[in-house]
Amino acid sequence: MDDGTAQRNRRVGVMGGTFDPIHHGHLVAASEVAGLFQLDEVIFVPTGEPWQKSGRKVSPAEDRYLMTVIATASNPRFSVSRVDIDRPGQTYTVDTLRDLRDASGAGTELFFITGADALAQIFSWRNAGELFELAHFIGCTRPGHTLSDPGFPDGGVSLVEVPALAISSTDIRRRQNDGEPVWYLVPDGVVQYISKRGLYRGAT
Ligand code: ATP
Ligand code: MG
Repeated sequence: MDDGTAQRNRRVGVMGGTFDPIHHGHLVAASEVAGLFQLDEVIFVPTGEPWQKSGRKVSPAEDRYLMTVIATASNPRFSVSRVDIDRPGQTYTVDTLRDLRDASGAGTELFFITGADALAQIFSWRNAGELFELAHFIGCTRPGHTLSDPGFPDGGVSLVEVPALAISSTDIRRRQNDGEPVWYLVPDGVVQYISKRGLYRGAT
């Protein structure tokens, strides 16, 4: 048994997302991966603005950041980083990982947690080759999404099946706009924040 004296790298998960809004699918995925990979911390990183996602106007970064803080506040191993929202221009994962590596210093291993949908497009990401040197990639499969391996480097990617949570931010925005409940799909504080700020009115 480990007596705690052995040197061990700090293992840090990085969960990037638009988080418009953050929901229990994101939180369960992070928690599940943290358990399986013995992560010391998971850093949630909301993407920057301005940019369009599927032709839709994304909510202000500050709202998405605050909802992410509210959702993660009760978990001592979860934190939120502003690196992407404070960096001007479109978010590229390579910049996120470089910034977090520079901030965390030597002796930290990064694990980038992403949905299988996003992982499937990995070779279209900027500096795809460097990405695998910066972090180990963990793809979470979720209902309705499967992953075909486009030729990932050996050992660079792990796939994890997270408990089936058919929750998406798209559905939450639609529900909010249509007056349907969003309770229990997102943390209570996020339900209240959405309503207080009047988010997703007229969302499509
Ligand atoms: P949208 O519907 O607007 O695309 P989303 O629900 O996919 O939003 P994102 O902010 O795009 O949320 O997701 C951030 C990351 O979390 C992505 O890598 C995505 O694949 C993953 N993810 C989203 N929903 C789930 C879920 N229910 N279970 C596991 N992973 C998820
Ligand atoms: Mg998505």
